[in-house]
Amino acid sequence: MTKPKPIPARPSLEWLRKTAKDRLAQARRVTPEAKLAAAQLQIAREYGFSSWRAMKVHVERLSARRTFDEDGVPTHLPRVDLIASWPDFTAERPLNLLVSGCLAGLPVGVDGSTYGDHALIRRLIDLPNARAVTFCPENFAFGTPRATPDIHGGDGHDVLDGHAKVLSDTGEDWTAGMIAAAERMLAIARAHQVRLAILMDISAACGSQVIYRGARASSAHQIGQGVCAALLVRNGIPVVSQRDYRTLNGVFRRLNPAFRSRPDLRDHHEVDWYRDYFQA
Ligand code: SF4
Repeated sequence: MTKPKPIPARPSLEWLRKTAKDRLAQARRVTPEAKLAAAQLQIAREYGFSSWRAMKVHVERLSARRTFDEDGVPTHLPRVDLIASWPDFTAERPLNLLVSGCLAGLPVGVDGSTYGDHALIRRLIDLPNARAVTFCPENFAFGTPRATPDIHGGDGHDVLDGHAKVLSDTGEDWTAGMIAAAERMLAIARAHQVRLAILMDISAACGSQVIYRGARASSAHQIGQGVCAALLVRNGIPVVSQRDYRTLNGVFRRLNPAFRSRPDLRDHHEVDWYRDYFQA
């Protein structure tokens, strides 16, 4: 099965209309009586939508959202000036972090694994002036091992707003369980007064930069957040993923000024794959 094309990083109605007009012009070179509606449907299907209207609604929702700041930094990431404004942390007054259970080394992945070794994250949370609270929302809601959930019809924000669903790869509707897990995660973050969440990207729960758009076996990636990351962000808690090396480096340096600065490091939205894939 051909996978759908990814939606670009900054979609708009203007982009959609121009794409349809270009496609119609192409079609009319071969078939002068070609219709706009047929060109629109073809484009919608290429992007994985059942109709032009469904694609239009999706793009309107995305373009109404402030995903990036003016300088192109995703709004959910902690800014350099925010990290600089934090107080000095000590063992007695540590930086409180909320960390995805799997990133902290807990065997809570869908298959009971930790999804690999996350040495950088473990190094950070082991610093004497950091304190990590770990949580796996999917383990909380569905246990381990479990089926693999993905978001259908949008991202985590759309799930919270009732526009999208979380479905397991066995076809069960896990929307309510995932929202309950997100609420639990937010309650934990508040109880521990965390300043930052470090979450595993790609997950339908914890993803923050990139997640799947529909069932992962047959879908494209999308820019967006999983349900739990979205609820944290909506409540003012910045989120960083394990792939945001520039920001993680800044957090390391805030905890230990002797930590070597690495100007060559990039966050996930700055890497070539992301830029090419999402035309960012
Ligand atoms: S990414 Fe989040 S939901 Fe998935 S295993 Fe890790 S902590 Fe659990």
